Amino acid sequence: MRRISVLGATGSIGASTLDLIRRQPEAWDVVALTAHGNAQALAALAREFGAKIAVVADEAWLPELREALAGSGIEAAGGEAALVEAARVPADITVAAIVGCAGLAPTMAAIEQGRTVALANKEALVSAGEVMTAAVARHGTTLLPVDSEHNAIFQCLSGNAHKDVRWITLTASGGPFRDWSLEQLHTATPEQAVKHPNWSMGAKISVDSATMMNKGLEFIEAYHLFPVGLERLRIIVHPQSIIHSMVEYRDGSTLAQLGPSDMRVPIASCLAWPARMDTPLAAQLDLAAIGQLTFRAPDEERFPATRLARQVAQAGGGIPAVLNAANEVAVDAFLNGRIGFTRIAAMVDEVLGRYAPPPPAAIEDVHAVDAQARRAAQAVMEMA
Ligand code: NDP
Repeated sequence: MRRISVLGATGSIGASTLDLIRRQPEAWDVVALTAHGNAQALAALAREFGAKIAVVADEAWLPELREALAGSGIEAAGGEAALVEAARVPADITVAAIVGCAGLAPTMAAIEQGRTVALANKEALVSAGEVMTAAVARHGTTLLPVDSEHNAIFQCLSGNAHKDVRWITLTASGGPFRDWSLEQLHTATPEQAVKHPNWSMGAKISVDSATMMNKGLEFIEAYHLFPVGLERLRIIVHPQSIIHSMVEYRDGSTLAQLGPSDMRVPIASCLAWPARMDTPLAAQLDLAAIGQLTFRAPDEERFPATRLARQVAQAGGGIPAVLNAANEVAVDAFLNGRIGFTRIAAMVDEVLGRYAPPPPAAIEDVHAVDAQARRAAQAVMEMA
């Protein structure tokens, strides 16, 4: 049996992970499960999987969690320090699936265990950059990418040397508004933005997909995970989301990873790595039924987020953490009806113009940049 912890167990990635674990109960010993405030759902999962510990990051929900777990023998805890403690409880693999920079401290705590971390929480890597990759190296941790594109690249790079890579191409579905005009984009609502054409995901990443900021964050994520140099990374829109990314080598060979648009496939690749495991999606890639795979260049006039992310990646330092924090504030404001859709990237751009912090040396520095950028984003929002 392998011990597993799932940070962000009540979310979309958490649910996909636990769905795979549910099918192999004899293989997994569930250690810690965490949520933000969804105490009832967390307690139900903790009971179902016989977790050792369940944590709500928002301590206000701890009484409800305790009540829901009464008599189960499962430890209940609450608050950010408890979340980090839970990530420190020994596990062979930790799935880091909290959304946003809020996942940084527990993800780093899991990395410091020196075992395996399956990383979905891209915002943590984008914000912390070298602080996280240095910790991975220092602790001898195996960092496996859950994001479908990065998981694809990881698989395509297997057995090859980075020096032989000519291009890494991240594919992007283009999101629900890929064919909308700029005029239409001004009118896009949160309900329309969260309806992704190909993937079923949490609200924040769905909006990020609609603005293409998701691909921007992934560009920075790829830069850290696969150090081939920014000039070798590129993005292409592929509306069918069948090819999840590609690696072209110097001999002219391009390797691609294909599969259904279901996160259980890349998650299974991480859970079983370096072996393979069954998923309920076997034999679903019917290329004859799909018929056509199409591609187009990203349109950075309508979707400036990938341009911003590229500039931010080039600038480096603490600037990616500013981009991420400003985007988190803007997406939240959009989802709550406070700003329009096209204001998201515009707001991020304005915050980036205000503030260029130096490279963070430690996680505390990343949190400080994150907090300051959030305040700047609030100020920009209130000025408009
Ligand atoms: P969801 O919104 O569905 O789930 C987020 C999870 O994080 C929930 O368990 C939530 O708890 C918890 N959470 C939210 N805020 C906090 C906080 N402040 N502190 C601690 N825990 C918190 O997100 P997704 O599963 O869609 O995404 C998770 C991560 O995976 C993101 O970084 C995303 O970019 C990445 N990812 C997601 C993909 C997908 O298909 N969904 C694909 C690739 C990457 P609660 O339920 O209590 O709110």
